[in-house]
Amino acid sequence: MALFKPENVEDFYEIEEVLGSGHFGQVRKVYERTSRTHWAGKFLKIRKTACSRLGLDRTSVEREVEILQILHHPNIVALKDVFESRSEVVLILELVSGGELFDFIAEKENLLECEAIEFLKQILEGLKFMHKNNIAHFDLKPENIMLSDKGSPHPNIKLIDFGLAHHFCQGEEYRSTSGTPQYIAPEMISNEPLSTAADMWSIGVITYILLSGLSPFQGETDEETLKNVIATDYQFNKHYFSMTSSMAKDFIMKLLIKNPNERMTAEECLVHPWIKPITRIQVDKRSRSSINMRSFKKFNAKRKWKMSYNMVLMCNRLVSLRLPCKSSSNPDPLQQAQRRKLSRKWLPVHQLVHINRVAN
Ligand code: ATP
Repeated sequence: MALFKPENVEDFYEIEEVLGSGHFGQVRKVYERTSRTHWAGKFLKIRKTACSRLGLDRTSVEREVEILQILHHPNIVALKDVFESRSEVVLILELVSGGELFDFIAEKENLLECEAIEFLKQILEGLKFMHKNNIAHFDLKPENIMLSDKGSPHPNIKLIDFGLAHHFCQGEEYRSTSGTPQYIAPEMISNEPLSTAADMWSIGVITYILLSGLSPFQGETDEETLKNVIATDYQFNKHYFSMTSSMAKDFIMKLLIKNPNERMTAEECLVHPWIKPITRIQVDKRSRSSINMRSFKKFNAKRKWKMSYNMVLMCNRLVSLRLPCKSSSNPDPLQQAQRRKLSRKWLPVHQLVHINRVAN
């Protein structure tokens, strides 16, 4: 376990602008005086008492730190240091300054499948490394896929936010219903034992969206989305997938499989002919197919709008929430899954469901 330094972070770093916000605090650009280098400081509020609704419990932060310490890989954000005060833990992370991959892509006029694959490959390389280390991310979604520097001709993917990640011990059975309805695997919703295969489901969803601008299981409400996921009810709408290669569809079909044991692993994905073509015909197919940019831009604009809307609602609710905590006794897996990240986000179920419903 990394040393949680008791010193004041501000003795070493100048705290600069906000880079992003999570449910438990902010990520800010920080400047290290000795090295004259910029980093990202993730400021996490720690719960003061077991009953407090606001903040994270310390063990959850310890888990995130322990996982980040294991993961040294070019496609995974690096952890440099950890500071701790009475009410806050600050993770000093590698600064990822290129923004989200989806935003970068949405700025383009067009993108060939083979160009999109270059990004996907890096995501898969990061995942392959993570999974080899028996770590699952469990919260893969566009917001957590960033670029190191979008100015570079070949921007590097960086996977971020290991707040829901889990390090599996040998033979361990782990269940969790945390996650985001659009990207969550069916076994999570049904509260079954999880494995790294849950991340591969999310890769299937992300690839589907990337190619078509459609979200495969998105319903009118979170309940509907979760039901669609459980039913694995999706299709390739001809209108949206008219520019997509059959190899790409095959890739997605081998990930969006209900049985986690039948899904491709990250390692298998990397040798799928869509990612690593063998024949000339396969190479040509990829470079003749492109992503549905018009639809993708629409999807991304809506996603960004929802994110800001949710954030404003969440902030308003956090201000007004001073209720004592109360655990739900509802055993319904759908309802449990709707508590999305409740383990990390100590908000009552009805608040979260309400937020998502309004945003939908
Ligand atoms: P959530 O509650 O949504 O899961 P979180 O509290 O776990 O969020 P992160 O997702 O890690 O926090 O970070 C919140 C946002 O801060 C990110 O969406 C991203 O915009 C920004 N961010 C996080 N890490 C970095 C980084 N290393 N460099 C630059 N920006 C970052």
